[in-house]
Amino acid sequence: MGYTEQVCQICGVPFNIGREPELSAWRDYHYDYITEEDTDCKDDGCSNVLRHPGADEAEHLAGPECTSTSGYSGWRISVEEIQDRNRCLCLAQKKEDWKPEIDDHAFEIESEYCYLTGISSTGVSDFGVENLTPARHGLLEPMVDNNAQEFTSDQAAMPMHPACFEMFKRESVRIFGYVNIDGLWKLRETQGHYSNRFKDFPIRPDLEITVQQMFNCVPGTEYLASDPIRVNGLSELIRPCQMATHAADSFVFERRKGDRSDVFGSLPLELQQSLLEYLDRRSVANLRLASKVFSQVPQLYFKHLVRAEMPWLWELDEQVRNPTDWHALWLKLASADGGDKLDEKHRNWQREDPNLNYEALRQKLTRQGINARDPRWNQAWMKEVDEAKAQAEAEIKAVQDSGRWDDAVKLKATEIRGLRNRRRIYEDLQLIMERIRALPVIED
Ligand SMILES: [Zn+2]
Ligand SMILES: [Zn+2]
Repeated sequence: MGYTEQVCQICGVPFNIGREPELSAWRDYHYDYITEEDTDCKDDGCSNVLRHPGADEAEHLAGPECTSTSGYSGWRISVEEIQDRNRCLCLAQKKEDWKPEIDDHAFEIESEYCYLTGISSTGVSDFGVENLTPARHGLLEPMVDNNAQEFTSDQAAMPMHPACFEMFKRESVRIFGYVNIDGLWKLRETQGHYSNRFKDFPIRPDLEITVQQMFNCVPGTEYLASDPIRVNGLSELIRPCQMATHAADSFVFERRKGDRSDVFGSLPLELQQSLLEYLDRRSVANLRLASKVFSQVPQLYFKHLVRAEMPWLWELDEQVRNPTDWHALWLKLASADGGDKLDEKHRNWQREDPNLNYEALRQKLTRQGINARDPRWNQAWMKEVDEAKAQAEAEIKAVQDSGRWDDAVKLKATEIRGLRNRRRIYEDLQLIMERIRALPVIED
């Protein structure tokens, strides 16, 4: 990843994300709208219309299959879902004359280095944020920076999405027992980096294709811009799984007949349940084949799976009450993640395929004794690179035409965008917390 605009220090997504069409359309910097010239989309279902007679440029009105990457399509993400991604909240440096104010949180008063600013609704431009509301501690328009500041006396603020900070707070309390904003500040001070938040921080494939110099709204990646706290569609997913009968002692799947001897048959139900919880999913599948007793699996095993595999689902304690069909809930939640991230793998494969061909060409030339420093390299490379590229494109097209990927993706295509984004941010937060924990103690 090269130079990009400022991103949320927690989730890696920037603050200027376009959306269309018409009503509540905006360009990446929240003004105007996406014009015909802005977009690379040629889909027949879209149209280009003048907003008013005499307007300079026609507005691009996205249809359901729009392929524009200038803004996310309103057919695939609602205004409510995307709003938080264009808002910015910062941690700002405590100067020598900083004094507590009436609306400070305890964690701000107790912190050594920083405090929270107000929220800007107009994104981030170059290195600055405008109109922080309220102007907490008098700060209205600070500079912001993802890069390490190395404890200078005049440090830029650290930009974050408000919802990402909510998630940071939640995880910080769980892991450290308090809201450790000093830890996050120190991490940025020492490891912050313009490319993907922190030095050598693992990058996700979907971030690699979207976080460019300007955010690239690749269709299918709308979840990156979806509110991870107020998740659209989550209650609707949970509600139908709540059953009329008590679920705790019920089972999933048919019980297999025959084979009277089964060593597990004498185990009490609780022990059977505990045994399953110690096994990974593949071993449970094998056990089901080997043992008649386990041909049926208790509902509570799936409750255990939801808790163990989806620790970011805090609604579990607030919204999900027994009786619940845990098996159905687990299946639905797994598919809500873009069908187990199948679509993400698809996008990654599309991106990787030409690179694999280029790598094969490089290896072929090396085998012929021509390496990159050889004067013959350029000529040999140029002679064959077009063919390598054409081959990759033909292969991608052949797979697309066969419908193999598309069918698989569509089959499992339910997606709860906000939940998927929450999972992504939760996983990144675990890495951030690990780094905070490993920071050396700073002596004054
Ligand atoms: Zn964020
Ligand atoms: Zn379009």
